[in-house]
Amino acid sequence: MAKEDFVFLPLGGVGEIGMNLALYGYGPPTARRWIMVDCGVTFPDANLPGVDLVLPDIRFVEKIDGELLAIVITHAHEDHYGALLDLWPRLKVPVHATPFTAGLLEAKRQSENNAPRIPVTVYRAGEAFEIGPFRIEAVPVSHSIPEPVSLAITTPLGTVIHTGDWKIDPAPELGPMIDEQRFRALGDAGVLGLICDSTNALREGDSPSEQAVGEGIREVIEAAPGRVAVTTFSSNVGRIKAVAEAAREAGRQVLVLGRSLKRVIDVASDLGYLEGIAPFLAEEDYGYIPRENVVILCTGSQGEPRAALAKLARDEMKGVALSPGDTVIFSSRTIPGNEKAILEIKNQLIEQGVRIVEDGQALVHVSGHPRRSELLKMYEWVRPQFVVPVHGEAAHLVGQASLALSAGIRHVPRVRNGDVLRLAPGQAEVVDQAPFGRIFKDGFLVGSEEEMGIRDRRKLSYVGHVAVNVVLDDRHELAGDPDLVAVGVAQHDARGGNLEDLMLDAAIGAVDSIPRQRRRDLDLVAEAVRRAVRSAANEAWGKKPLVTVFVTR
Ligand SMILES: [Zn+2]
Ligand SMILES: [Zn+2]
Repeated sequence: MAKEDFVFLPLGGVGEIGMNLALYGYGPPTARRWIMVDCGVTFPDANLPGVDLVLPDIRFVEKIDGELLAIVITHAHEDHYGALLDLWPRLKVPVHATPFTAGLLEAKRQSENNAPRIPVTVYRAGEAFEIGPFRIEAVPVSHSIPEPVSLAITTPLGTVIHTGDWKIDPAPELGPMIDEQRFRALGDAGVLGLICDSTNALREGDSPSEQAVGEGIREVIEAAPGRVAVTTFSSNVGRIKAVAEAAREAGRQVLVLGRSLKRVIDVASDLGYLEGIAPFLAEEDYGYIPRENVVILCTGSQGEPRAALAKLARDEMKGVALSPGDTVIFSSRTIPGNEKAILEIKNQLIEQGVRIVEDGQALVHVSGHPRRSELLKMYEWVRPQFVVPVHGEAAHLVGQASLALSAGIRHVPRVRNGDVLRLAPGQAEVVDQAPFGRIFKDGFLVGSEEEMGIRDRRKLSYVGHVAVNVVLDDRHELAGDPDLVAVGVAQHDARGGNLEDLMLDAAIGAVDSIPRQRRRDLDLVAEAVRRAVRSAANEAWGKKPLVTVFVTR
């Protein structure tokens, strides 16, 4: 029998932002046992019309059915745990998570229809546990959500550290400092590889602390004349706390708008993270507070059209409104792809006379990921034999790779989604490939692009659809004018001619041009009509709609 090896296989998040899902396997190559680290989602862009979520394709994991022992979640960001509710029913293995992640998962389950009840084994940052041949130690780090951890994963062939999302925060708003001592001790004992966050690998220096951001927000609030609204990522409990403290110091009360914020605040309060913070107000209480005594904490920092900030910008909230002279703080960054939506909201606010404060004008946001100096410190603490850059697009991965090499790391294997990287024994190298890709949550269903009809839907959104019903009589003559319905198609050509009429004429012409005896072949008639309608539309409009033709006799 072949000898055991220890492998790493990312199925998402390596070469892209989001959708993090990594597998670690140990055993003989034909009978490895596996754990999954994180199970995240990505959000769809305009190229995926109607799609709610993008999930990693777990065909490979379904194939190793029975050999997947458990899922370990590093923290409760959507790109790390957002696919659990949708994918877990296909896996049905125990999930290990911290109390905060478990709490948020349960709150999310309750808010969704028919979401599965997932058995969660709770671990705390700093603890270690065993899953089959894997010993897993959760090392506390700093990030932008409560209870983030790195995982030191040990098998009989050695230890690797999967950093998860992390940074070094000298003054976190919430939770412990990153456990430098523990990382150093792991380094002393010997670490094979560091599988490491690359998000900010192109940014020089160290990131500012969360407390410095809290200070920045306080300064803006204290100087603001009217209402202040702050929008941030809902899971950033430290930031929520900082805003609440800043409001208190400025003699203001905090009103919370947005379901996901309320959900996070409930979970965080239950776990004691918001102790000493005055109770937040709800929308109903708003009318009674003078403008200069309120801070509105709201969702919508990414321009989500249905979130609270968008509603404020459009002035369509029942009890709450902004007025000229008020301030909106974007305590967030723009996730690539959301630029336009965010800009639209900013413009609407500016039209209302509202002042915008964002990162760059004042220290009102900081990323939760390590910049280059922080990466170098981690390399020095852990002293790995090799570094595997993950959690980033190609530019970030390559950025970290060259940083690691320049720091004297001997080996930086090039790994992308679907690569099976042998971590040990021997030099780390890619030894196999596994299927990977994306699947889509669309309404109640999850499936591939083909299964969900997304390609056609995308096409429809560009060119529209025309349905033609052709009825032939016994002599294979047209029994009347065909019926034609166009959806999402231009109405008139450049000369004002009605496009439906043009397409109808083309359909009639197509039938007429087919010799009568050949019209017995109804498929042939349908195809001729389809082509004629498409080319008529193309001539008049410059676009070919999708055309469906029914021919009956
Ligand atoms: Zn994160
Ligand atoms: Zn992440």
